[in-house]
Amino acid sequence: MPEGPQIIILKEQLEQYVGQEILEAKGTVKNIPVQNLKNQILTEIKTYGKVLLLCFPTFTIRIHLMLFGKYAINQELNRELRLGFTFETGEVNFYACDCRLISEHLNQVYDWSTDVMHPSFNQVKVLEKFYCHPERLICDALLDQKILAGVGNGIKNEVLFRTHIHPASLMGQVPEAALKNLIRTCVTFSKEYLSWKQEGTEKENWQVYQQRVCLRDQVPLRKEKIGKPVRSCYFCEKCQVLYSSCVF
Ligand SMILES: [Zn+2]
Repeated sequence: MPEGPQIIILKEQLEQYVGQEILEAKGTVKNIPVQNLKNQILTEIKTYGKVLLLCFPTFTIRIHLMLFGKYAINQELNRELRLGFTFETGEVNFYACDCRLISEHLNQVYDWSTDVMHPSFNQVKVLEKFYCHPERLICDALLDQKILAGVGNGIKNEVLFRTHIHPASLMGQVPEAALKNLIRTCVTFSKEYLSWKQEGTEKENWQVYQQRVCLRDQVPLRKEKIGKPVRSCYFCEKCQVLYSSCVF
């Protein structure tokens, strides 16, 4: 599943079409009147966490690539087209994704201050949201897009490892300083991840995600399915502190 930084890259790839008119719109998406999109002008592209927002003068199209979504620029893939646009200088096609039409102003729909890639990200706001869920596992809260937008499973594992926090820690048990450090790391790591992704070096920079040995202790890492819904957690039992009353 693409995380926030990958959606920023998609946005950058599509910026070439901003200011252009849709010459043709097609696709099997049911909840958007595809034929009415013809002649609309793409005015801006925004992102919120893991979603891409294509802005037109009176509405926005929200595209979420979900787990298996794909997109193709100036080519077609051999699969069911959900939504595709032909502009004056090229085309973009989306597959296996969730597409929705938003008619409200985006500021009424999205809280930009909780998006790790957004300039108005606000650590205090996110900390308040964390405190509202003391009973939740930290690995679940990090993936909750209503708390922190843009963090996916890879970033989750990396920031927990880098801040020495065990993924099964309870939110309410993690000290405030550690939580603040975790939130800061979500932002700094996501930005680093974006630059690695742009250079094509992101896999070399994973320290724990899909890795086998702890860099700090040289002991085998554990891989467990943890959380609701369950997602893979990679962690070191020796150097990641479990803040909880129960033993994992
Ligand atoms: Zn370790």
